[in-house]
Amino acid sequence: MNRDDYNPMNYSEQDDLLFLPLGGCGEIGMNLNLYCCDGQWLMVDLGLTFAGEYFPGIDLILPDPGFIEERRDDLLAIVLTHGHEDHIGAVAHLWRRLRVPLYATPFTAELVRGKLAEHGLEKEAELNIVENGGSVQIGPYDIRYIPLAHSIAEGNGLKITTRHGVIFHTGDWKLDPDPLIGEPTPGEELARLGDEGVLAMIGDSTNVFNEEASGSEKAVRDSLVKIVADMKNRVVISTFASNVARLDTIGHVAKTTGRRLVAVGRSMIRVIEASKKVGYLQDFPPLLDEDEAAKVPRSELLILCTGCQGEGRAALARIARGDHPRLKLAADDHVILSSKIIPGNELAIGRLVNSLVLRNIHVITEKDAFVHVSGHPGQPELRDMYSWIRPRIAIPVHGEARHMARHAQLARDQGVEKVITVMNGDIVRLASAKSNAEPGKVDEAPVGRLVVDGQTVLPIASETIAERRRMMMSGHVCITIALDRDGGLVGEPQLVARGIPGWHEGEAMHDRLLEVVEGTLDKLKPAQAEDDHKAGEAVRIAARRALDYEIGKRPVTDVRVIRLDDW
Ligand SMILES: [Zn+2]
Ligand SMILES: [Zn+2]
Repeated sequence: MNRDDYNPMNYSEQDDLLFLPLGGCGEIGMNLNLYCCDGQWLMVDLGLTFAGEYFPGIDLILPDPGFIEERRDDLLAIVLTHGHEDHIGAVAHLWRRLRVPLYATPFTAELVRGKLAEHGLEKEAELNIVENGGSVQIGPYDIRYIPLAHSIAEGNGLKITTRHGVIFHTGDWKLDPDPLIGEPTPGEELARLGDEGVLAMIGDSTNVFNEEASGSEKAVRDSLVKIVADMKNRVVISTFASNVARLDTIGHVAKTTGRRLVAVGRSMIRVIEASKKVGYLQDFPPLLDEDEAAKVPRSELLILCTGCQGEGRAALARIARGDHPRLKLAADDHVILSSKIIPGNELAIGRLVNSLVLRNIHVITEKDAFVHVSGHPGQPELRDMYSWIRPRIAIPVHGEARHMARHAQLARDQGVEKVITVMNGDIVRLASAKSNAEPGKVDEAPVGRLVVDGQTVLPIASETIAERRRMMMSGHVCITIALDRDGGLVGEPQLVARGIPGWHEGEAMHDRLLEVVEGTLDKLKPAQAEDDHKAGEAVRIAARRALDYEIGKRPVTDVRVIRLDDW
């Protein structure tokens, strides 16, 4: 590593080819990859991650693009590999900070267009459509989209040719001999790409622990047809809306098992429309609306819906709780989760399954029957890919540390000369015009996360979120006191509390706290009593101590002092 002669502030003067992930390395989610060729940056993907319960009121987490925002004059474009949220989800939230053209294939572009419109950006943001398998020249980068199977229509790897050499950025991928949508794996084309010489492969680590290949969409179709054909009563199938091949399969299942189809959930309907618009789902059966569906005999209906991860507000959760206004389930109906149980979502999915089982509804998940295949490569597929591409450098991405370390081992086992493991923020030199410069880590960029709070994007360490968490854990008390010029109490202190046990069940807690406030004010020294801040602090500390004694918690406590000078 030649860190000594490297100027971290001025990438534009370096004759290097660099790689820098700002998201997606060390986590599965919020991918943000950057390449820098001779000082000009290219972004590949700009995704998000879903927030857990640790962030009250927050649904979405974004990568902090601060590093590239500061250099946005040198940023040429954002190239999107495919339409999953972990690859496109942050585009509309962060576009105003970056203001560069976007590139995507037609289906991905259709999904991005919808998101831009929601943010009022459909006119401002330049969205360029690259045909499937097409190419585009962006500054010093010659980029070719290489269609690869994945759990969404239009998964793509990118062949990025620069004067320093060729990068193969795999995106999310799998090998599928019969993907139903798109072409089978272009093994020969990838081998030819390897013959031409690939400098670096930057690739998906998600399923590196799977010893078996991911399996084919066609096999899932055959299995689902068999499973549903044997079912009586209502059948619900839930999957990710963006898995267009699976939607096509569910349409096929409805037709071959003699059921009418209804789609429920806003994102499901939006993806079906977007798919049809760009030429997919052409054999999809006509969809019933929910009123029509409610009248169809139980054994003749198939409900396709969102919510396979147990999301509380999604269609499936509402149907499971019996909250859906038109579509109801009864004992001996069936629910199939045709999807992966994503790590982190086990509890939510468990709650959903329990609520169904309690109502004697039969549930099938990927653990019970063959109803799902993954969209990411297992070990045999990774080995095939390395044997075709034969890169000089391999950099595992799209994984937690353990996935990336295992992927690095697999790459070494496949004979890759230089395997570089990275975390978000590592700046890696892939090649340099200076012949003595070795590939490897050369610098670190600042990284971070942002949260989407309603319409505002905040730093993850923001005081707003910390405050909300404290109120959520311990409740909130607001005390207002009026004092005269000498610090004497005027009238009775006003107490308002939220989330405090004993407060709503009678006056006891209120009265006890009132006593503490009045007692504290009585005992103030003149210097305290005449100073608003000191008086307020004394009351706040005493109130918190008393609450700790009474309820074992110290709620967020605010004291407002009103000084009545005329008294
Ligand atoms: Zn994906
Ligand atoms: Zn992904």
